[in-house]
Amino acid sequence: MQLYQSNQIKVYNSLTGQKEIFKPINEGHIGMYVCGPTVYSNVHLGNVRTFMSFDMVFRYLKHLGYKVRYVRNITDAGHLENDADIGEDKITKKARLEQIEPMEVVQRYTVDFHNVLRTFNFLPPSIEPTATGHIIEQIELISKIIENGFAYEVNGSVYFDVHKFDETNEYGKLSKRKLEDLIHNTRTLDGQSDKKNPQDFALWKKAEPQHIMRWPSPWSDGFPGWHLECTAMSTKYLGKQFDIHGGGMDLKFPHHECEIAQNEAAIGVSPVNYWMHANMLELNGQRMSKSTGNTVNPDELLSGNNSFFSKAYSPSVIRFFNAQSSYRSVLDLTDDGLLASEKGFYRLMDAVNLLDDLKASSASSIDVSAWKQKCYDAMNDDFNSPILIAHLFEAAKYINQVKEDSATLSSEDLDLLKETINSFVYDVLGLENNAKTDSGTDKLSGAVDVLIRLRQDARANKDFAMSDKIRDELAEVGIQLKDGKDGTTFSVN
Ligand code: AMP
Ligand code: ZN
Repeated sequence: MQLYQSNQIKVYNSLTGQKEIFKPINEGHIGMYVCGPTVYSNVHLGNVRTFMSFDMVFRYLKHLGYKVRYVRNITDAGHLENDADIGEDKITKKARLEQIEPMEVVQRYTVDFHNVLRTFNFLPPSIEPTATGHIIEQIELISKIIENGFAYEVNGSVYFDVHKFDETNEYGKLSKRKLEDLIHNTRTLDGQSDKKNPQDFALWKKAEPQHIMRWPSPWSDGFPGWHLECTAMSTKYLGKQFDIHGGGMDLKFPHHECEIAQNEAAIGVSPVNYWMHANMLELNGQRMSKSTGNTVNPDELLSGNNSFFSKAYSPSVIRFFNAQSSYRSVLDLTDDGLLASEKGFYRLMDAVNLLDDLKASSASSIDVSAWKQKCYDAMNDDFNSPILIAHLFEAAKYINQVKEDSATLSSEDLDLLKETINSFVYDVLGLENNAKTDSGTDKLSGAVDVLIRLRQDARANKDFAMSDKIRDELAEVGIQLKDGKDGTTFSVN
């Protein structure tokens, strides 16, 4: 008997706008596709949040005993600067600016992405396909869409005919947009004149002579449109219909809308049963985004080397911070929020570390089975991790009570408590027990605070030689002091 047989999950399906009972196409098996990064720059914490949310979903589904095939792609070609299919491919542009090969850009940022995933203790997906590795599949898909009358070629480029599609199908059903309400781009923009209608989107773009990333096709030497790769790769590895498709909220339109249209136009069926969208991470109340530059990268937050936060935070604290809000809520990354999560994380871990010291009694005064059920109920309810964490804190309270002899646990219940806590803390939330490292960090932090106060005293006494000496010698060992309007903070390089 697998755990999924006694745990009915409900998933919020963006397509219907409702929480629905989750039923996989093949019992015991789940196909899940999540749009991966466009590897033209370092991932920021917003990207990390979305991937982290789906890592938790993947972990929980696996924990329940499902055989999950999790496909997360790497977009290494075809993502244009602009949703209106104009402008340059993001990777090509970066290669031009840095005067390196496009595949060098791809390699550099794929490596960065993988490093970040390892740092944050992500489970690797089952398959990590690349757009450039699936050009043939994409060309085949375009041919089918043309054959079925939903795409047309102009000057070597191929466009999806959104208006034609909407006559028989419903374009906009995921993002709840009506074709007539869609904002019309002006026809005067570069490259727009090729399209029959501004809402049409590129399936294939003819490459300009200087464009390095190019492949032969029946229409031109060119490259595939961004939306196409996900349709090609998801259906190749998961079948023409599969269970879960995820991504950040910002991908709902046009990217996911176009994926549905492509699949329906090529194969005649809607590809996905449950669309899941993770909400956005904000920084200072504004969406974290590469294009606006309002970002913090993981290494900046982990090292404390940034202008937003008072200190460095560990990967598990950031994971904990993320899990303390629902994946469907907007989350604002703030110093206060991180400090509170850090405190909570170590309070929980302190309790977890006591587990092995607890002594069993002949009977229990705590209903561990009921508590365990509440943990599962939380996760079964659309992966409600904040509620799960509230129950874990309840367990921390029990642990402390047993330690102080104000509650008792039978040896069976003690085992059940340990097993359940370990499953949720490590397997499902993916946290790591680095309490020891952190108490080291806390001590370092305490020691530097002492030096900061001594430096303040020196300055107050006009002993600037001493205050400079403290600052410089700390800098020599890699600790940077920063004087701000709210006092002095430090970062470790
Ligand atoms: P990209 O590399 O831009 O294609 O983005 C990779 C993933 O990160 C996509 O699923 C995006 O939806 C997601 N993403 C981008 N910005 C944010 C943000 N501020 N918060 C959460 N997810 C984001
Ligand atoms: Zn995608």
